[in-house]
Amino acid sequence: MNIILFGPPGAGKGTQSKYLVNKLNAFQISTGDLLREEVKKNSEIGKVITNDMKNGKFISDDIVNKLIEKLVSDPQKKNKLIFDGYPRSLSQAKNLDKLLKNSNQIIDLILFLNVKKEIIMKRVEKRRIIEKRSDDDSNTLVRRYEKYMETTQPVLKFYSENPNFKEIDGSLEIDEITRKIDTFINV
Ligand code: AMP
Repeated sequence: MNIILFGPPGAGKGTQSKYLVNKLNAFQISTGDLLREEVKKNSEIGKVITNDMKNGKFISDDIVNKLIEKLVSDPQKKNKLIFDGYPRSLSQAKNLDKLLKNSNQIIDLILFLNVKKEIIMKRVEKRRIIEKRSDDDSNTLVRRYEKYMETTQPVLKFYSENPNFKEIDGSLEIDEITRKIDTFINV
């Protein structure tokens, strides 16, 4: 099963991806993690994106598309992909369709974790204290939320027309969200 987890920063995509990775023996593709890793390694890409990452800015489609290309076409990961934080633009969504088609795969499920800004602000405040993520201060958070909403509207529209699109109330407790996800994958 290939699954996309879609929803604003702090909606719980990471938590639910980890659950799905365990449950389905799958592989998480978190573009946020991949990008943070580049910054940490101080690679060529890392140097280019450091500031934008710090400021919660959108990283260019070219860079992000390149980072996921190999992972999507990796035969070991075939039909076991959990996308977390990708795609975030229409161009990324179309690129993903193309990459999947090239390797004879489809998206089996698109899960939209829908959460209001106020709830996300509270959640991320907790995460900031626990994980000390530099992009998690509240100004950055507002920027990331607004940028997310702005850039993902077309993506949301694109996927909401797909029969495999499911919306879940992301303000529910983690366990309740997991239970809802279970009803979609235990078919
Ligand atoms: P995340 O961990 O998904 O919240 O992502 C952290 C940051 O990485 C975002 O604020 C963006 O700066 C960048 N990022 C992650 N995924 C993408 C993507 N698909 N497209 C563009 N930028 C991204």
